Amino acid sequence: MANPITPEQLAKAGTEDALQKALFCWCSTSGIPELKWLFHIPNGGSRHIAEAGKLKAMGVKRGVPDIFLPIGRNSFKGLWVELKKPKTGIVSDDQQEWLDFLTNEGYATRVCFGWEEARNALLEYLGYVWVDQRFVCSRNGRGVFFDKLAAEWWK
Ligand SMILES: [Mg+2]
Repeated sequence: MANPITPEQLAKAGTEDALQKALFCWCSTSGIPELKWLFHIPNGGSRHIAEAGKLKAMGVKRGVPDIFLPIGRNSFKGLWVELKKPKTGIVSDDQQEWLDFLTNEGYATRVCFGWEEARNALLEYLGYVWVDQRFVCSRNGRGVFFDKLAAEWWK
């Protein structure tokens, strides 16, 4: 059987799409149960004008962050992530307006440059820390351990 593709391989193309695929690839093998609920909002990317018009009519809106984790933590209702390419990614005015609005509504919002930064933002938001060679998520006084997670994922 061929080796499964890795997030690093997926990210190699360097496009925002590729970085997002890498992030979701990592999530699917992370063993972290909360990440089952992470999803992408297909609001951007280049499209034929007819397709763009159809999506707009269906309610797709410019500037909505790329990724949402609909899980409340601490005082936040959920986490929105705007994913950007490292170094060259720029937050547009539409995106900043959404991020400001969502922050004011009580959501956590993060702009992440690269998939590793997005991964770390998710781990941090969910309360995972690296202790004794593995991730620990302590919530409600309980430690939850995930041995599948590897050290190099937390940088
Ligand atoms: Mg983006």
